[in-house]
Amino acid sequence: MREIRSVGVVGAGVMGAGIAQVAAEAGFEVVLFDPLDGATARARQRIAGFLERKVAKGQMPSEDAGAALDRIGEVTTLESLADADLVVEAVPENLELKRDLFRDLDRCVADDRILATNTSSLSVARIAAATEHPERVIGLHFFNPVPLMALVELIPGPMTAPAVVETTDAFARRLGKTPVVAADLPGFIVNRVQRALYLEAFRIFEEGLAGVTAIDDAMRQIGFRLGPFELADVVGTDVNLAAGEAIFAGFHEDPRYRPAQVQHRVVDAGRLGRKSGAGYYDYAADGSRGEPWAALTGVPAGSPSLPPIDPPQIEARVLATIVNEAASAVADRVAAPEAIDTAMKLASNWPEGPLAWGERIGLSSVVSTLDGLNAVVPDGRYRVAPLLRALADAGQSFFGR
Ligand code: NAD
Repeated sequence: MREIRSVGVVGAGVMGAGIAQVAAEAGFEVVLFDPLDGATARARQRIAGFLERKVAKGQMPSEDAGAALDRIGEVTTLESLADADLVVEAVPENLELKRDLFRDLDRCVADDRILATNTSSLSVARIAAATEHPERVIGLHFFNPVPLMALVELIPGPMTAPAVVETTDAFARRLGKTPVVAADLPGFIVNRVQRALYLEAFRIFEEGLAGVTAIDDAMRQIGFRLGPFELADVVGTDVNLAAGEAIFAGFHEDPRYRPAQVQHRVVDAGRLGRKSGAGYYDYAADGSRGEPWAALTGVPAGSPSLPPIDPPQIEARVLATIVNEAASAVADRVAAPEAIDTAMKLASNWPEGPLAWGERIGLSSVVSTLDGLNAVVPDGRYRVAPLLRALADAGQSFFGR
């Protein structure tokens, strides 16, 4: 394949600006396209601000920052991307929008160039199928904020040429990123395994076994930077629900991925997280976290309730669910165990990879926690991944140890 020297970025929003920045910093010529009036100029301003802060912190000489900014050009037509060696799409998460765009890009951009999508949740195969050349289409999933997040998921579709995977992998490494290859299944690695963290926390809450703060405190206690409710508020409760719904639909409504009612309650109330000043928690004007939303606390007088569970029980439930999801991703051939653990540590800042964590707890203990939950809620959400049970029964490891 051609060596990559120039990069086209389509969509100059949060992700497109980040991708343009890291590519320009790595020495690539970048052209940025967005049909919205002023969007590319605003993206360039944001990038300039980011680079200035790097210079101020002594992380970058000011000449390098200036040179990186000079490498980013703005264009007003898709046709202007014709000569880019790699085009990365970062337009809103809408399948028809992306399919239309890829159909157009396929016409405009020379046949021997790579077309990549930054989709978080859509099928790369379905995007690629809109083109005449699906062999040159690949998923290249960056994480937000792009300049700071080391992980990139590479998602070949069923038709993607091996050389396209290799070249894109080399490109990601030149950006200083750590690429992991993931199968084109809903949520790829990170969003799929991360789902288990949120959903189990939401279920514990909805069962009335622990409050929002108790669950967040318990998860922080074992090394998560933020509790699941706090994290959902950072991500945006609406964005989080949409990602969950896409994965639920992608897995044909498997109960394991069913969004929780409490997710709808906060979104319906317009509590979209930190960006709207309120989510699962209230936030003060200076951004500091307040108490959980009053509607999520308290029990109507006279209602019977279950005794609350303690932090180790909360942690055991959430961890067992996470390990089970990671095991099911291994069984589905989403990625190798090492790649899954690496991905969760880099993209989600988890203190340990889920599979190594499961082994430290003991796979048999994880299985017995899940079996216990499945006995109480036998709708399939806690069914043990057969691979996990087999390894636990045989005393074996995911890592061939
Ligand atoms: P955004 O809304 O910030 O930016 C999207 C940009 O695309 C806007 O500037 C919009 O004007 C532009 N756009 C709309 N239609 C277009 C078209 N036809 N051609 C070119 N540009 C067009 O969105 P974002 O958060 O940057 O997300 C972009 C993609 O990245 C989505 O697929 C999203 O799922 C994915 N993603 C987002 C995040 C995140 O945390 N924001 C993380 C990983 C992946």
